[in-house]
Amino acid sequence: MSKRKPIEPAVETQVLLKSRRRCCLCVHLHHDFEIKNGQLAHVDHDPSNSSEDNLVFLCLDHHTEYDSKTSQHKNFTKHEVVAARNSLYAQTMQGQGLASSGKNAPSINQSGGMNFGTAGTVQVYGDVIGGDNAPPRKHEALRERGEELYRHLDRWLNAIAGYCIRLNSVMQGKLTYNQFLDLEIEDGKQERDFDFSRIELLIDLDFSSLRAAYESLIGARTAMNRIASEHKRAYEDGLDGARFLGPFIAAQKTLEARGDDLKRALVNSIRGASS
Ligand SMILES: [Zn+2]
Repeated sequence: MSKRKPIEPAVETQVLLKSRRRCCLCVHLHHDFEIKNGQLAHVDHDPSNSSEDNLVFLCLDHHTEYDSKTSQHKNFTKHEVVAARNSLYAQTMQGQGLASSGKNAPSINQSGGMNFGTAGTVQVYGDVIGGDNAPPRKHEALRERGEELYRHLDRWLNAIAGYCIRLNSVMQGKLTYNQFLDLEIEDGKQERDFDFSRIELLIDLDFSSLRAAYESLIGARTAMNRIASEHKRAYEDGLDGARFLGPFIAAQKTLEARGDDLKRALVNSIRGASS
């Protein structure tokens, strides 16, 4: 039996930074990109092997599930967890690039060096730059961030829609769970041009009026995930998944409706900003 070796702080930091405290199994199985309370798990279940490659940040539930030895059903495999982790890392790296490439172009000082002849005109122009002219520019930046938020939301919802179609097929017995997982891994490799932490940041900073609609969407996603998890357990116990299909589709429709509500509220809020 190998001894538990403390994980080096530098290694732990790397794993936390790369995962951004997202659980790769939540992301992989449910497109759930929320920050989780979690722990570092050992991929090979060997606590003496604390190399970065053997570590993965998992939420408490998935950590328990991954480490559980008592279950007779097929548990998450190493391959699956590593693929999910690497796919998450690829996405968070992409996200970091996206977040840092925010539209922070320096604003041009139009009054600089311009000669308007009389001191009076210059004075008026100065007032215009600092006063009436400033809000439109602020509005334009807000509109751009609103459009960025819309794109991220739209792509996230599309990814969820794809996941729903695939999971529906499992519930109908058209796909095995392993085939579904392979498809999810394939899908995770696609260029995913959305960044969940960016969605949250934009809502916090610029669109706090959308917070309630956003929470409501997250609530719908959580409800849908609960059904997906129940289905997974039933599947592992060899039960027919068909009875989950109805509730799952209903949850999916609710989620779509909440997503549409949020996007509509966002569009209205962008319109409000530019008028
Ligand atoms: Zn998880």
